[in-house]
Amino acid sequence: MTTQRSSRPPRARRLVVLGRGAAARSQGRVWLVGAGPGDPELLTLKALKALQMADVVVHDGLVSDEVLDLAPAAARRISVAKRKSRHSYAQDEINRMLVAFAREGLEVVRLKGGDPFVFGRGGEELEACREAGVECHVVPGVTAALAAGASAGAPLTHRGSAQAVTFVTGHAAVGEAPDLDWAALARANQTVVIYMGLSTAAAIGDRLMAAGRDGATPALIVENASRSDERRIVTTLSGLAGAAETLAGPALLMVGEAMALATAGSSPAGVQPLKVQGVSQ
Ligand code: SAH
Repeated sequence: MTTQRSSRPPRARRLVVLGRGAAARSQGRVWLVGAGPGDPELLTLKALKALQMADVVVHDGLVSDEVLDLAPAAARRISVAKRKSRHSYAQDEINRMLVAFAREGLEVVRLKGGDPFVFGRGGEELEACREAGVECHVVPGVTAALAAGASAGAPLTHRGSAQAVTFVTGHAAVGEAPDLDWAALARANQTVVIYMGLSTAAAIGDRLMAAGRDGATPALIVENASRSDERRIVTTLSGLAGAAETLAGPALLMVGEAMALATAGSSPAGVQPLKVQGVSQ
């Protein structure tokens, strides 16, 4: 009788599977990876592993340098950040770029701030890969709202005062409010987290109050959540617009009774580097 498990692939075959991308496969793969909110310690282990095997990293402006530094020095880095003055890549150009690199046999890491599927257009890139027959994997990331709540000590749900949390986009023409179900968002005892809402904060506040949300509802704005330049402003719904004017972003607006627990400040109190006893840094 043999003790060897028959399900285990022979060693030679496993070596092929584990080989570096370009050398081992004719068709590469695309990894849609969430880089988290900025603090490299908030990266998942899976995101780190994907980065370490990358041949090419296609990244947004929101991805911090500390995270980008975790990719191999030899990996090509391509920024597709939105720029105000210079050419910025259209989404379909990015889609084509990912597919083309994968077809060259490369391991392509598409690195996005936060989570790729939370206001990250990851779905469009996944569809483009599927249509092209390119293997695509999604690695989730810590979305900005989770880091912002953690830093401020403000739970997004809280027994008795926040039975639901909703992530919405604040993106609309400057000064206008996005097309959302304001009546639903105006109900008490829930947290509304607004991404991309800095320039439309006044209109968003007005719509929520017009739909019946109390102007005294606690609110929090967190800029650069989890980064060394994080800033948190504790305010109320009626004070949201005034507070938003003082910031340049990236920032989240968070409205809800549970934001009463938030602490203001300019230091990332909740995201200090972890010091583990006995582990050298
Ligand atoms: N996929 C990202 C969101 C991209 S949309 C995620 O899951 O977090 C871009 C918006 O996200 C910004 O306008 C801002 O509202 C928010 N955001 C991203 N990173 C942030 C950070 N570190 N601090 C505060 N807000 C952030």
